[in-house]
Amino acid sequence: MTNFLKSIKPGQTIGIIGGGQLGQMMTLSAKEMNFKVIVLDPSHNCPASTVADEVIEAEYDDIEEIIKLSKRCDVLTYEFENVDVKTINKVKENTYVPQGTKALEISQNRVMEKEFLKRHNHPIADFVEIKDKTNLKKYIDEVGIPCILKTATGGYDGHGQVVINSEKDIEKASSLLASKARLILEKVVDFKMEVSVIISRNESGDTAIFPIIENQHRENILHISITPARITKEMEQLINKNAEEIATNLELVGTMGIEFFIDKNNKLYVNEIAPRPHNSGHLTIEACDFSQFDLHIKGICNMALQRPQLLKSAVMINVLGQHIDQVKDLLIQENAWHYHDYGKQESRHNRKMGHVTLLTDDVEKTIKELKETKIWNK
Ligand code: AMP
Repeated sequence: MTNFLKSIKPGQTIGIIGGGQLGQMMTLSAKEMNFKVIVLDPSHNCPASTVADEVIEAEYDDIEEIIKLSKRCDVLTYEFENVDVKTINKVKENTYVPQGTKALEISQNRVMEKEFLKRHNHPIADFVEIKDKTNLKKYIDEVGIPCILKTATGGYDGHGQVVINSEKDIEKASSLLASKARLILEKVVDFKMEVSVIISRNESGDTAIFPIIENQHRENILHISITPARITKEMEQLINKNAEEIATNLELVGTMGIEFFIDKNNKLYVNEIAPRPHNSGHLTIEACDFSQFDLHIKGICNMALQRPQLLKSAVMINVLGQHIDQVKDLLIQENAWHYHDYGKQESRHNRKMGHVTLLTDDVEKTIKELKETKIWNK
């Protein structure tokens, strides 16, 4: 196989599998540098369609169309981690795919992800793989209550998860147990804070780590992100050390998000790895001199990377279907809001429609002001 170690230059073509908001924001960064961008997405009106040069309308598992895309681009990337590994391996014959498949394969399966983390001595919550679905109780006794039953593949934003607080909750897990999905049971971490790290790397090994981000979820969907996270210097160093080791061991290229829990005793756990730009990192667009999308594009093009600088503290709040109308109304008077609208055709409850970022000298005051709008009460 050809050993590609090359750089992609402005004017050349980037192919992106997936044209959602992540694909859209990647495209915006790429267009600033005058790359040509072709996106593949099942929807012709996907968020990236307003900014990309071209959209190939095809399902993500349409191998023929992905092969066609690969023949037309100088480098191929993806905006989500559930891209078929076999397809990516196949199209390597046609184009530069510097991200490879190691990070994809590991992050697509929670069992592989946890085994990878354990093997490299990263702290994780206790877990077991469910091998006998008729005997959940045995596994609950092993892990301890409270615990969470999760599908090993395909879960996102809390989909495919059941929290088990007592044996009575076993009933709630019946449909997951009846499904064909591989499952794991994971101990609940009584965390005091969730944080994420965005880290970017290129094929030459330059690594750039962003300031740590503090996250709050609602119904398992990211609600608010704050940077820099309100943690000690020691914790920051420990998180960065874990993130850098994970990036190196995964042979990361492009941008990746890593989610962590910090428990009440200041113990750190790695929760999840996402080998792509991450929702919490959207605030880097305004808060840093280079955004997570800028460094994704630079990373996959094998351009030199440097550690991004934080320009100012920032708060980002997600705009879901139930918020967007009021957000648009208030936008007219909110002069400090950086509003990003993904341009999705259909608005639904809990669907990510956009986000607002605020740069601030006073994070608490900014959060209080956002609360006072009452938009995010629902
Ligand atoms: P995940 O899809 O695994 O990232 O889970 C989504 C959200 O569920 C996380 O961001 C946490 O808020 C919560 N969660 C998941 N796993 C755990 C756990 N082991 N302990 C506590 N909370 C969890």
